[in-house]
Amino acid sequence: MSKLYGLIEAGGTKLVLGLAEADATGAERRILQRHRLPTTRPDETLGAARAWFAELGVPLAAVGIASFGPLQLDRRAANWGHITRTTKPYWSDTDMVGPFAQAFGCPVGIETDVNAAALAEARWGAGQGPKGQDLGSLLYLTVGTGVGGGFVSRGQLLHGLSHPEMGHIRLPRHPDDMGFAGSCPFHGDCLEGLASGPAVIARWCQSLSELPAGHPGAAIIAWYLAQAVVSFQAVMEPARIVLGGGVMGTPGLIDTVRAEAARIGRGYFVGDPAEVVVAPALDSDSGLLGALVLALAADAS
Ligand code: ZN
Repeated sequence: MSKLYGLIEAGGTKLVLGLAEADATGAERRILQRHRLPTTRPDETLGAARAWFAELGVPLAAVGIASFGPLQLDRRAANWGHITRTTKPYWSDTDMVGPFAQAFGCPVGIETDVNAAALAEARWGAGQGPKGQDLGSLLYLTVGTGVGGGFVSRGQLLHGLSHPEMGHIRLPRHPDDMGFAGSCPFHGDCLEGLASGPAVIARWCQSLSELPAGHPGAAIIAWYLAQAVVSFQAVMEPARIVLGGGVMGTPGLIDTVRAEAARIGRGYFVGDPAEVVVAPALDSDSGLLGALVLALAADAS
């Protein structure tokens, strides 16, 4: 029997809302409606989101929220489901779950946007083998305005005290990139500070895809991403490492990352880099489908 689920992908500049119909396993699923809102102030934005769902006039079995963070994800905490301290004006200490749980009287699931995308890719995207078999483990890295990562093993996300912050690992420096201090406000030259979109602009005043042919920028960024791939592979050995986000839209970048990862791995790289390091399979739907995984889990619990 299929039910209706409310989906929310909350980003720093926009909220994407969706209404999905799915069976309990999610094997049969369809996004019926979509809507976009600008992310302004919490009361205004979340109020408009609530109003959109209410106007649909249908009962929601659960709501799934894939949100920008940082988020409090410890179920035992009084502020579970809140955005904690963020540099985004007005949004620190915002309760993301309460407004929807109260308005629709249904369970609500919440995760970071990158963790939700990892769940969706693992379940319905790049984490599935050629015959539709679940490969068992997947790391999703997004390289865009920031760098973030989510790891899924046997359908479960890796959590510690909080969600991982994989964009803030330290890396060796590329020999031709020693003069750049890095753009991370906390660490300078962490992975995010070296390889995110703003880090590219800070050095070369253009995005990678806008740089002229022969410019060394893409090779330097690929080198850092390959260092990250090799490090994460050594720690987690995921069957798939999915590289998404705006920076990965640069033509040819993923091929250079694969070649560099194989070279840097020095025989330790497990598997064929072309099969392990892959692009997202769900494209722009990974956020809403991630929210659907969360809604299904909330409905089942
Ligand atoms: Zn950092």
